[in-house]
Amino acid sequence: MISEEQLRKQICKIGERLYQCGFVAANDGNISARLDDNKYLITPTGVSKADLTLDNLIVINDKGEVLAGNLKPSSEYKMHLAVYHNRPDIHAVVHAHPPISTAFAVCRKPLDMPILAEAIVNLGVIPLADYALTGTDEVPNSILPFVKDYNAALLANHGLITWGRDLQEAHFRMESAEHYAKIYLYAKEVGEPVFFNRKQIDELVELRTRYGVTTGGEYKLGDN
Ligand SMILES: [Zn+2]
Repeated sequence: MISEEQLRKQICKIGERLYQCGFVAANDGNISARLDDNKYLITPTGVSKADLTLDNLIVINDKGEVLAGNLKPSSEYKMHLAVYHNRPDIHAVVHAHPPISTAFAVCRKPLDMPILAEAIVNLGVIPLADYALTGTDEVPNSILPFVKDYNAALLANHGLITWGRDLQEAHFRMESAEHYAKIYLYAKEVGEPVFFNRKQIDELVELRTRYGVTTGGEYKLGDN
């Protein structure tokens, strides 16, 4: 069992990596981890992800009430709780604004192109959640349709949220999603991207069970 201190360290490290990768600017983004059924660690509002410290992380309960910490929790804590409440297997959530994925969110396009094996197996389709005003209940409601069956969602005109069985998986999904979006963008520049066909997609989806991944949605494209 991973200790609270280890989780705090991991969150700080992920914050730095999000910042260094240019996935967040200023104090964008938020990271959380489940401590137990009714306790969650979450990043504070108003602090750059590059400047997180073990002490400035917040512990909140199921209702978002602060149990420990001196700062205010991220204003998007409800979005994180919406994932935890509907997915007992999920122990970490990462939200950021990686530029290329967010460009898809701005154009209101899901990331559902079957072009890369790893993305199909570990990430799956990234659906597009409806636009929601930040900080309101509309935000958790917008992702609810996707929490059970997917590993990530684009937030219309806003950014990307990913979740995983641990912090590394949630963070890797954030990195993989942006990498995948970037490769698709380059591929469009180079020529016409070739999608996997149905048989190839099905083979890759079957591989998910080998990695214990049960979610990721279904590809509609590639029926050629
Ligand atoms: Zn955001």
